[in-house]
Amino acid sequence: MPTRAVPLQDRPASKRRGGKKAARKGSHGIARSAPGNQRLINHLGRDIPVRVQRNRQARHMSLRIDAREACAVLTLPYWVLIAEGMAFARSKADWVVRQLDELAPHTPFADGRTVPYHGRDVLISHFPLAGPDPILSGDVLHVPGSPAAVSQAVRDWLVEEARRALAVRVAVKAAMIRRDPPPFRLTDPRARWGSCSSDGRLCFSWRLIMAPIEVLDYVVAHEVAHLQALDHSPRFHAIVERLTPHADFARDWLDTEGARLLRYG
Ligand SMILES: [Zn+2]
Repeated sequence: MPTRAVPLQDRPASKRRGGKKAARKGSHGIARSAPGNQRLINHLGRDIPVRVQRNRQARHMSLRIDAREACAVLTLPYWVLIAEGMAFARSKADWVVRQLDELAPHTPFADGRTVPYHGRDVLISHFPLAGPDPILSGDVLHVPGSPAAVSQAVRDWLVEEARRALAVRVAVKAAMIRRDPPPFRLTDPRARWGSCSSDGRLCFSWRLIMAPIEVLDYVVAHEVAHLQALDHSPRFHAIVERLTPHADFARDWLDTEGARLLRYG
């Protein structure tokens, strides 16, 4: 699935996959990494956090940005020394700093803040009465309960809205390829929007509820298409085109705006 940025790798440019193409690489198979070892590199007097992680499947060192934590992530094959990896990270410090400086500011789910919902900004408005769930009225999300619970209440509401919106589309698109709706889970990954395992279980980021509906539609189409083709072959892309008219718009949107969604909450 699309990611924030094409990871930098230590292999020659000639062997690197093209920018956007690589960013759209599928996510099936590679597990989300556990929080790893945090280190710092110093660049022009500025400390830059780098999380170091090992990946058994990695063939090369790579460097990417974790937009949520606002840090760099250095992935190392098991045979590469940490010192060697950190030297690689230091050599890319300019790129890391540029990427980190481009990140949107962190926006908590709090009274008076806005949060995108299906691509439009909604104002979070807390009212201190007991109540069941938040209610969206026009462009205002009214959140009942104690002030301390606002953040969790908004998050829970978004997750449930995501579950509803995704369930409808998963069912419709599965039917288009003559399949029963597959089960899906909602998670909060840092570097992908959806995934499909080899045994046909789908996973989506609940943050897709913040993106325009076309984007959510495309990500569902992409993962459902993997039920037919677990690769990114021309046949796969033909299935995606059949399942959604929004692929181009959504890919561009995710490339340019996707990382912003990780900066909320
Ligand atoms: Zn894919």
